[in-house]
Amino acid sequence: MRNYLAEKPREEELSFQQTCSECGEGFAFAEKKRLEDDNIILLEQCTECSYSKRINRALTIENDPITKILKGIKTWEMRDRHCRIRESIGLIEIGTGTIVGAMEIIGTRGPMGREELLENKKRHCSDPDFLLSKGWDHAWILKKPRKFVNPIPYKHPRGAQMWVKLTKKVLE
Ligand SMILES: [Zn+2]
Repeated sequence: MRNYLAEKPREEELSFQQTCSECGEGFAFAEKKRLEDDNIILLEQCTECSYSKRINRALTIENDPITKILKGIKTWEMRDRHCRIRESIGLIEIGTGTIVGAMEIIGTRGPMGREELLENKKRHCSDPDFLLSKGWDHAWILKKPRKFVNPIPYKHPRGAQMWVKLTKKVLE
């Protein structure tokens, strides 16, 4: 189980790292912004250019996979279903109470059998038998991971599991 984790990620998987997807010069940071109508939103911005985008929701992920996602090593997030969302989403590192970065979901694939999971170990960075035992046979294909310069604290809503909607109550 160790050897594939030590494999060097391919060039194209590293090319987007943490730099701004617009100018390629600056770094991603996020801040809570209070609007005139008293709503609070999460805005992702660039340290160098005018890039600015609202992030509406965040996905909860464990520390180990989130680190690999943000380094561009892991490009498939494995779940038990397809995902229809195609926008910039926040990444919540479970146990930290913070949103640590953002990424895009550009598509999904699955359900996959053992062979297909084995062929794509480099993308999902997991043991195929472990994934199958959990029912995680669908890949959410990720692009442009950005690690925020400063993680954003939020309040985890009671009962929220996979997704957290970034409402005023959550961001306040
Ligand atoms: Zn920029």
